[in-house]
Amino acid sequence: MTRCPRLMKQSCSGQLNDQVACNTHLRIAMKPAQISTFFATLRQANPLPVSELEYTSVFELLAAVLLSAQATDVGVNKATRKLFPVANTPARILALGLEGLESYIRTIGLYRSKARHLMQTCHILMAQHGGEVPRSREALEALPGVGRKTANVVLNVAFGEPTMAVDTHIFRVSNRTGLAPGKTPLAVEQSLLERVPEPYRVHAHHWLILHGRYVCQARKPLCWQCQVATCCDFKPKTPAP
Ligand code: SF4
Repeated sequence: MTRCPRLMKQSCSGQLNDQVACNTHLRIAMKPAQISTFFATLRQANPLPVSELEYTSVFELLAAVLLSAQATDVGVNKATRKLFPVANTPARILALGLEGLESYIRTIGLYRSKARHLMQTCHILMAQHGGEVPRSREALEALPGVGRKTANVVLNVAFGEPTMAVDTHIFRVSNRTGLAPGKTPLAVEQSLLERVPEPYRVHAHHWLILHGRYVCQARKPLCWQCQVATCCDFKPKTPAP
């Protein structure tokens, strides 16, 4: 039976993802003062969080994020460290050809479809955007292999917009802590945009990803060493081993 991750003794009703709080606890959320303390604490520990994907241009960022779907940043970096010195613009990727591109990224999961999408994206960037990465959500989401999450990452990291790219870590942390409960990534994204105080919005998604990746982990959150435990609604907290 699926159990509510925010109160393990309470069973969820209905068909809920096991990382989403039950209907009862979806309605309970962190208070504004708790949210401010939550982000102030994360900011104090890491004032300028950055993506763990390696890139040196907006195009490299776009390509790396496109390649990172259902793959680790470490795995993507390993491949792009060889790819980008050879081809780090749309024109150079196209010059590699599909098989040439695949040879650089075959260690990444789903590499065949990602290679195809990246080639198609490069064609569009050359034909419609002068070889540059567009700044609008609509134009980004029109690129093959670029969904809402990827567009949010590019808009945030490359262009400094206060977007929330809800990945598995942000989805889990937002629900588990009561920060921004929601049953879908889009619901969580909209809740975060409403609930995260303005001074924290630009960096919020990185703080949440890093917190979810290294502290508030999926199987066993490291509550006993968590800096934001006092403002988190999750119960019961994981005790120290
Ligand atoms: S106390 Fe920290 S690690 Fe534990 S659930 Fe809350 S945010 Fe996650």
